[in-house]
Amino acid sequence: MNTMTNKVIRYRGTDLNTKGWQQEAVLRMLMNNLDHEVAERPEDLVVYGGIGKAARNWECFDAIVKSLKELEDDETLLVQSGKPVAIFKTHTDAPRVLLANSNIVPAYANWETFHELDKKGLMMYGQMTAGSWIYIGSQGIVQGTYETFAELAKQHFNSSLKGTITLTAGLGGMGGAQPLAVTMNGGVCIGIDVDETRIDRRIETRYTDVKTDSLDEAIRLATEAKHTGKALSIGLIGNASDLLPEMIARNFIPDVLTDQTSAHDPLNGYTPSGFSLEEAAKLRAVNPEEYIKLSKASMAKHVSAMLEMMEKGAVTFDYGNNIRQVAKDEGVENAFDFPGFVPAYIRPQFCEGKGPFRWVALSGDPEDIYKTDQAILREFADNEHLCNWIKMAQEKIQFQGLPSRICWLGYGERARFGKILNDMVASGELKAPIVIGRDHLDSGSVASPNRETEAMKDGSDVVADWPILNAMVNAVGGATWVSVHHGGGVGMGYSMHAGVVIVADGTKEAGARIERVLTTDPGMGVVRHVDAGYELAEKTAREKGINIPMLNK
Ligand code: NAD
Repeated sequence: MNTMTNKVIRYRGTDLNTKGWQQEAVLRMLMNNLDHEVAERPEDLVVYGGIGKAARNWECFDAIVKSLKELEDDETLLVQSGKPVAIFKTHTDAPRVLLANSNIVPAYANWETFHELDKKGLMMYGQMTAGSWIYIGSQGIVQGTYETFAELAKQHFNSSLKGTITLTAGLGGMGGAQPLAVTMNGGVCIGIDVDETRIDRRIETRYTDVKTDSLDEAIRLATEAKHTGKALSIGLIGNASDLLPEMIARNFIPDVLTDQTSAHDPLNGYTPSGFSLEEAAKLRAVNPEEYIKLSKASMAKHVSAMLEMMEKGAVTFDYGNNIRQVAKDEGVENAFDFPGFVPAYIRPQFCEGKGPFRWVALSGDPEDIYKTDQAILREFADNEHLCNWIKMAQEKIQFQGLPSRICWLGYGERARFGKILNDMVASGELKAPIVIGRDHLDSGSVASPNRETEAMKDGSDVVADWPILNAMVNAVGGATWVSVHHGGGVGMGYSMHAGVVIVADGTKEAGARIERVLTTDPGMGVVRHVDAGYELAEKTAREKGINIPMLNK
């Protein structure tokens, strides 16, 4: 049922709808998460990643909006799985909002329990940035995806994907960044999605170049582009678990292979083999158990085909949706033969506290973001990789909702840039305050043994104390909103993670909070990797003077 008319409002400019910029920032970011340009299914409050939601239901949404409008500068609103449950008097430096999403006592932490609670109206799935109100659309993941493919190209293809074909599936909210990230690296991408409207959306936003429903046509276009060295992305309409085996039958083996269907959620995120979207929706409603059974069996078929393509030469990796685990549970014993993207390509960045840092212009004016781009180019001129990224992002990435920018910054860099942003707001160079945040997929904010903490050096993959410490220290430091979630990315039972957002409103107080939080947050990433025995993290900690009691000086 669509009850969102007139509820999701695009607040812009400098007039406040709340009692201060901190509260205003929360309100604008909640609205932005559900903006029609940003969210995948805003009418159902679904932001991205299967059923990742921004509020439990429309009644809760209304109550959150009302609470934010009434919230004083020295109060804190508590949100439990998308429902506002209390407003306490705290103090001006405390977070304005604290959120806990989808947390279930470990022995019960599975989809079955979640669905029962969800049906009873007791819980919602917060994914990562959906329930913590810092999702900015596919643009939020583009650099991470770009960096992943760039590192893969460095390791396997002489630093460029030119003349190679990448095959993937899932062109949803996050997965939709893949085609653009591949072409940005010079390569050809075939992105399969069973839902044509998802492909259309990627074409509208220039993340994908062309679409077809013909496998032969997709192979022909991709092969031609590969041979001429042209960068091209093709959206192929169809079901990955059917199309991959067909590709093998036609002797088509891609150079690079991955997948970003929402396999973390077998009921809502993956369409079983042989089903049209309509048929799948019908089965999901009338017989969810049968749906889950068929969906898991299809994932096993999908992963088996990926393993066969890998054996035939495709550089294959898991892209953080837990599809290997499902396949393994279904009897594909060697499902984990291909690695996850974090140990394969990303971990060294985590050791330096680097991860997907982002900022959003609350004015709604793109000029504000362009000015911050100039600040990066000026202040980080010696970082060629970063400057190239900013220039490329300006040229290729279309804004969705509030203008925003993403780039990977590490320990030291984040606090430095946060101060610059706050000073730009203070001087009036920017029209309104800036929201500073990050994905939960970051260096020190997540425990996820099939993804961010897969194959840790010391075997501490499942240790979940780190995201809790991360959230606590960021709250103490004075972040504007802090969240603790379960089950994001890889699904129920497989992850714990924390989010943080802080507002640069140009005040001296905000400056002090920013310095604290943008130091402790990436600091946790360095510390977590020092504790696991990574030399690069130890080197970073020593160079930056991070005080770690048991690290030999
Ligand atoms: P989404 O739900 O918005 O999109 C999933 C897409 O997969 C949909 O478009 C759907 O139509 C398609 N799909 C489902 N079954 C299919 C099938 N059998 N064949 C072809 N297409 C199929 O999700 P999203 O936000 O794009 O996230 C995708 C997955 O990636 C999730 O599991 C998410 O947790 C994970 N993720 C990974 C990262 C990362 O950096 N690696 C980041 C965020 C999310």
